[in-house]
Amino acid sequence: MTGVVSFEKLKKQVAAHEIDTVLVCLVDMQGRLMGKRFHARNFVEHAFEETHCCNYLLATDLEMATPDGYASTSWESGYGDYVMKPDLSTIRPMPWLEGTAMVLCDVLDHHTHKEIPHSPRAVLKKQVARLAELGFAAQTATELEFFLFEKSFDEIRKSGFRDLEPISGYNEDYHILQTTKEEAIMRPLRNHLVAAGLPIENTKGEAEAGQEELNIRYSPAMDCAEFHTVAKHATKEIAWLNGRAATFLPKWHHDRVGSSSHIHQSLWTLKGKSAFFDADKDLGMSDTMRHYVAGLLKFAPDYTYFMAPYINSYKRFAKGTFAPTKVTWSVDNRTSGFRLCGAGTKAIRMECRVGGSDINPYLAIAAQLAAGISGLEEKLELAAPTRGDVYRDKKAKDIPTNLSVAADALRKSKMLREAMGDEVIDHYVRAATWEQEEFARIVTDYEVARGFERA
Ligand code: ADP
Repeated sequence: MTGVVSFEKLKKQVAAHEIDTVLVCLVDMQGRLMGKRFHARNFVEHAFEETHCCNYLLATDLEMATPDGYASTSWESGYGDYVMKPDLSTIRPMPWLEGTAMVLCDVLDHHTHKEIPHSPRAVLKKQVARLAELGFAAQTATELEFFLFEKSFDEIRKSGFRDLEPISGYNEDYHILQTTKEEAIMRPLRNHLVAAGLPIENTKGEAEAGQEELNIRYSPAMDCAEFHTVAKHATKEIAWLNGRAATFLPKWHHDRVGSSSHIHQSLWTLKGKSAFFDADKDLGMSDTMRHYVAGLLKFAPDYTYFMAPYINSYKRFAKGTFAPTKVTWSVDNRTSGFRLCGAGTKAIRMECRVGGSDINPYLAIAAQLAAGISGLEEKLELAAPTRGDVYRDKKAKDIPTNLSVAADALRKSKMLREAMGDEVIDHYVRAATWEQEEFARIVTDYEVARGFERA
């Protein structure tokens, strides 16, 4: 049982009692799997056609609140249904769960059966199609960084998320001895994901106690986003199965390094030739690559929300932590927001280092493609790369420093409105303002400790 399975094969597995459960899922705004657990027999006989879900699933927050202000749904409109239409090309086993497979769904309007434009899969599909019209396909890879903790999710929650102890006691960057001690989780994670059809490259320790990185081989953009979503889900479940917790919160403590999700990207012709590599050009960067990267840089403030969607995301952008603070590009320099990798070779690509571990990969990749496409269409010129310690470059443009600045840039982005549609942008602007409203309302531990006696 390895890799994506055809519907015919699934039917045989169900008849042979190898699969008894099919998870029928959509990807929500936060990049999570949401849906229903079908008895496999019902799925292969009926539910493979379609099932339904409440339409608040694409207008909620991490805690499943029902905020007002979304045009797509509300109490007023009665929170009706969406159609979940299984995409049968995405059936895969989930080998870490007994007898279980999963399928991803497109999300359709209940009445018109048209795809819901703000559904993350639809948002990315649209940019992939725009790129194809220009004669290109994007290959992308999203790195997944996260922390493992000694205790389980339940224990941590019951203790009020206090006294968090990472699974290891020291910085484990590239550390073989320390990561050997974490193999009870990381080895099954790699092996189960490979059995589920994901091209896993490796895992490694990262630059903090308890911090891990999972690398998946680059793939067409839609596959990459799907791999990221499945891998993140599996990481949490396999940690849970082992009585541990895994967090993708970008900054779980202000004194610890944050977790990122760097996005590597390259364009290819539809015949499979790198459109980024030109052996005769400086650094091997083709004109196509230069225009594309100029778009990534020009529109970085516009799309930062999709790279950093929560209040906490912005705490990661700290000097001297390998998380960027400036919108610059550079040649293999990890202090810059954008790092050229594979210069002078066919593996040439741009790594965007802005995204945190909390990205929704569909939205983040779509935003990158939209910016790159604008660069191509406008034939934007790329400035010279920056050198040295970019954190100290006073002339370089800042990455938006908080959610409010990023939400405002998103709201005003002519480029993203044209690329994704007003409906989509207004929807995600509301998601951003809701995060700010909730944070403004809640009294935090920090405020109480700081001011209780001293104010
Ligand atoms: P690093 O040492 O910076 O982590 P890696 O060599 O491990 O870099 O590559 C990081 C990611 O880049 C991997 O997931 C890899 O599959 C991806 N990658 C390699 N070549 C390309 C390419 N041409 N386009 C997009 N991604 C690529």
